[in-house]
Amino acid sequence: MTESAVAAVGGPTLPQERRLVTDIPGPRSLERLERKRAHVADGVGTMLPVFVEAAGGGVLVDVDGNSLIDLGSGIAVTTVGNAAAAVARNVHAQVDAFTHTCFMITPYDGYVDVCAALAELTPGTHAKKSALFNSGAEAVENAVKIARAATGRDAVVVFDHAYHGRTNLTMAMTAKNMPYKNGFGPFAGEVYRAPMSYPLRDGLSGEQAAARAIDVIDKQVGAANLACIVIEPIQGEGGFVVPAPGFLPALAAWAQANGVVFVADEIQSGFCRTGDWFACDHEGVVPDLVTTAKGIAGGLPLAAVTGRAELMDAVHVGGLGGTYGGNPVACAAALGSIEEMRAGRLDARARELGTRMRARLEALAAEHDVIAEVRGRGAMMAIELCHPGSTDPDPVRTAAVSAYCHQHGVVTLTCGTWGNVFRFLPPLSIGDELLDEGFDVVAEAFAATS
Ligand SMILES: *Cc1c(COP(=O)(O)O)cnc(C)c1O
Repeated sequence: MTESAVAAVGGPTLPQERRLVTDIPGPRSLERLERKRAHVADGVGTMLPVFVEAAGGGVLVDVDGNSLIDLGSGIAVTTVGNAAAAVARNVHAQVDAFTHTCFMITPYDGYVDVCAALAELTPGTHAKKSALFNSGAEAVENAVKIARAATGRDAVVVFDHAYHGRTNLTMAMTAKNMPYKNGFGPFAGEVYRAPMSYPLRDGLSGEQAAARAIDVIDKQVGAANLACIVIEPIQGEGGFVVPAPGFLPALAAWAQANGVVFVADEIQSGFCRTGDWFACDHEGVVPDLVTTAKGIAGGLPLAAVTGRAELMDAVHVGGLGGTYGGNPVACAAALGSIEEMRAGRLDARARELGTRMRARLEALAAEHDVIAEVRGRGAMMAIELCHPGSTDPDPVRTAAVSAYCHQHGVVTLTCGTWGNVFRFLPPLSIGDELLDEGFDVVAEAFAATS
């Protein structure tokens, strides 16, 4: 362990400030980057190579003493902040009690408590059950397994720009080649892609876009062969694409009428991120199965499939599981995270942050015609950069703005099929002033790169 790692104390009490005391990355981070190069596979990239020693509220503090404003939450994971009080308390208690038994060998309460909470929180009032896993990709794979077992059908429909993970089945389900799929085939079969509703690029209403997608599904797959439709209600990696109103309800209705399992991949959009507990809540869509991960457990690895009890129970005993799935420490963290979300009314906080971010981004878009669209919901906001007057993506400008933000102590993330979208996912524990300062830097970055 390095000397600085011992000294670090993170959590909500960390001073909430942007503080730059060296270049980014600083000399200590650069030293560690050399060690990373020596020991860590190059395929595991790092976007902003400052080594973190403490984090909390809305900041990340690096080994050089720089304090960076976090507008990414480790990709929508630290929704309750880093080392949130209830998460830290529950994790400490659980580690002291026991770290693992394997739920499939000898069970424990935390697993069942998380499943009970998921039944209550996810959309719909029907009888629900859950199964717990370690990663989002694993949850998506299991949702497909459950849908296939329940329907006796093989085919899976996903959408343009979709991101569902990096395992073999989920690579097939993910749209983008580089960096997720290139050279990693052959991919799993029986995965079909339908056109997404992408208002900036297709100009279609939700009903029109759904009719277009359903026509492709009907003609190229056939409902009788289709086990499930898997869709992100707001797309994550694919560019924070928000489908036009009516798109999701129309797809869900078609799925229901045709005995097709409707799976909402809420791994990025779930757990208060969009201003509702789940993004599907916004239009009252009730999925048959919901996959969750990321924001569920305050940073510990946990994922779930939650859905209609009769679908979940279609799988034979022993057909679902995994050595670590629903690890007791991760479950304790999830219960702490849910407690923080409930007590702090973090769904409402996400809406407040969304209003604040949208105002800043719209002002920025009025000044810089490279910003083709401001979109998103709650604390899941984005801007898409295109060459002015067109929808030709501008990834070069996106990279320049991004580099400026990083050098000036603001952690921003990009995404999108063309790498031309900024996504803003602050922890919901960030303060207004710090958020404003973060967006001041984003505005400076646009001015400095124009
Ligand atoms: C991140 C993500 C996944 C994959 O989750 P991992 O935990 O990285 O496996 C799947 N679906 C969506 C929508 C995601 O954002």
